[in-house]
Order: sequence, then structure tokens, then C-alpha cells
Amino acid sequence: MAGSGAALAAAQQSGAAGPKNFVIASGNGQRCCARALEMLGKGIDTLDAVIAGVNINEEDPEDDSVGYGGLPNEHGVVELDASVMHGPTRRAGSVASIRGVKTPSKIAKLVMEQTDHIMLVGEGASKFAEAYGFRPENLLTEKSRLAWLIWKRSLRDAGGHNNWTDGLDAPAIAGGGPTALKQAFPDVTDELLAYAWDRAVHPVTGTINCLALNAKGEMSGVTTTSGLSWKIAGRVGDSPIIGAGLYVDQDVGAAGSTGRGEENIRVCGAHSIVENMRHGMSAKDACLDVLKRVARNYNNDQTRLQKFDLNFYALRKDGDFAGASLWNGVWRRGQFRPRQFSYAVDGKSRLENCIFLLERPKA
Ligand code: ASP
Repeated sequence: MAGSGAALAAAQQSGAAGPKNFVIASGNGQRCCARALEMLGKGIDTLDAVIAGVNINEEDPEDDSVGYGGLPNEHGVVELDASVMHGPTRRAGSVASIRGVKTPSKIAKLVMEQTDHIMLVGEGASKFAEAYGFRPENLLTEKSRLAWLIWKRSLRDAGGHNNWTDGLDAPAIAGGGPTALKQAFPDVTDELLAYAWDRAVHPVTGTINCLALNAKGEMSGVTTTSGLSWKIAGRVGDSPIIGAGLYVDQDVGAAGSTGRGEENIRVCGAHSIVENMRHGMSAKDACLDVLKRVARNYNNDQTRLQKFDLNFYALRKDGDFAGASLWNGVWRRGQFRPRQFSYAVDGKSRLENCIFLLERPKA
């Protein structure tokens, strides 16, 4: 097990080196942490720094769990969720099921700054973004569209039939997998078909959460996501829910999450972690305690718990930090990938394995 920031906390508490700029994010956030840290170094506000950091993922068409290129809902429409919290002003903003905007984190900040509200959803959120000059854009990349279409073509009715490949009026395609798909998509590369098939079989969750602390002790956080791929249209996860996917209390610390949002909403994860830290727990213990509550919701039944993953990131005001996951990692095609988180301090951005509650048996 690894991942507690005790050393940094000790350094910060001793006052020898003084408080440091520090950024933590989910495993997909190495570039994000580096950019946010650089901005903190220039004296830019903690919220602007973390938003600029996650914008990298939101605008990256290759990150299929966040923003542009995020995998769509069941109808092939990309719907995004995001939230922000600004420690010094103790304000929050969020958007859910917003369409047509690559950077929902920026819209969440506008909700926080420009309205008397905290959360806007669906069409209202999209119209609000338009009012602030965000022209509606198509967020579905060709890659994401293909993955969605292949998922849709893989669906069967209760009798095992579908309208795409059963061979009555449509060409019969035997079996499944990328090889069979080549008949239906002869112009698509093998690599892309393999990717699309993998996504159809293993719908992804993803998301980026990023938390920052500056040398003045100010804190902020952001969480942004395209949510669960192939979700029921209108489904909202934990990311835009203040207290679940994100929580910042300037007096105590900050926490955020990635993974199956439904499980996190049921334990108000980010808020529960911050409350644990308020009562004296380390970032690591605060996260593990909440993961235990998640497991308790299933009576610790590992067969059911294995069906999902949930990860927390926590940063105390004194610099103690942790990345923690329900499971130690995932097995894919006989290969184990540990669950990781990113953090940046002293000019360097790195990845570290999360501490974890459970060890995933070999698949
Ligand atoms: N937490 C996100 C959601 O439930 C997805 C994820 O992080 O994987 O929408």
C-alpha cells in the first residue's frame, strides 16, 4: 500500500519549508496536475488553476471519459456533468446532462459566479452556456460514434435476436468481436474495431477530479466527466453533485471521486471524507473509512462489489493527501493494472498507486 502524503504534511506542518503549492488528481490527470501546479506558481487562483488543468482532458478527443470525445448516452448523444468549489469564497457551481459544450467545468464556474444558483441541468444548462457565448458543438468524435454504434448493434432482445445482424434481410454476421465486425465495417482499421469492441463489451467510466492547495493555504476543486458510457439519457452521476463527486471546505480540506457514481452518491463520499478529516483523520484513513461504508452497503459481498470500482482523492489543508480505491486495480487480458492517482509538487507531476480496500482476484 502507498499513497499517504504524510511526508509533505510533516514538511508543511513544520513550517521549515513553508506551505507548498500542491495538486492532486485522478490517474488520468498527470498533465492536468502539471498545468495546474505551473499556474499556482504564477499566483493564479486555485480554482482557475484546476479548471485549466482539467480543460486538457475535456478538450482531448482521445480521453473518452471526459468532455469532447467522451462516450455518449444510449442515443449516441454526449451528455456531460461537472462541478467546481472555491474554498476562499466557499461557493460552488455545477452542471449536469449538459450538451454541446466541450468544457463543462467552465460552465459550472459561470453558474457559481454569475447566478444565485448552484446547479443547472439539461437544456437549461446548455442554453445558459450559449448565453455566455459557448456555441453548441458536436462532441461526438468518429471514434466515439463507432464505439457507440458497435455497442448498439451488439444488443439483443429477450429471445436473443437483433435487427442488425440476424441475417433475414440483413447480412448474417457470425460470432462477435472485432474480426466479425470487419464484414460490417470493412473500411475501419483493425485497431479501431478492437477499441470499439472493447468499449462495447466493457462500458467505461472515467472522469477527472482535481484538487489544489496553494502556498497561502487556499483550496479549490473540480470534477468533470461524460459519465457512464451508454447511460440512460438523463442519467446523472456523482460528479456534479456537491458533497458526492466533490467537496471543499477551506477550513479542513477537499475530496473528490471517480468511478461508479451511484455508489458514491449513497455515501455522500466527498463530504463524508472531508468530515472525517475535520474530526482528525488522515486523508488516507478518511478515504478508507468511506470505502468501508460503500462495501457495507453490499454487506461486504465481494461478488457484487467486484462489479464496480470507486476511487477517492483527498487533500487536507495541512498538505496530507491520499488516492484511495475500492479495488487495488483491474485485470484485463491477463494483465494487472494498478489503480493510480496523480499529484504534482515541487515542479514535478507523478503517478502513484492508490491505497485500497480490497484486492481484486485474478480474472
Ligand atoms: N463518476 C462518474 C459517474 O458516475 C463516472 C466515472 O468516474 O467513471 O458519472
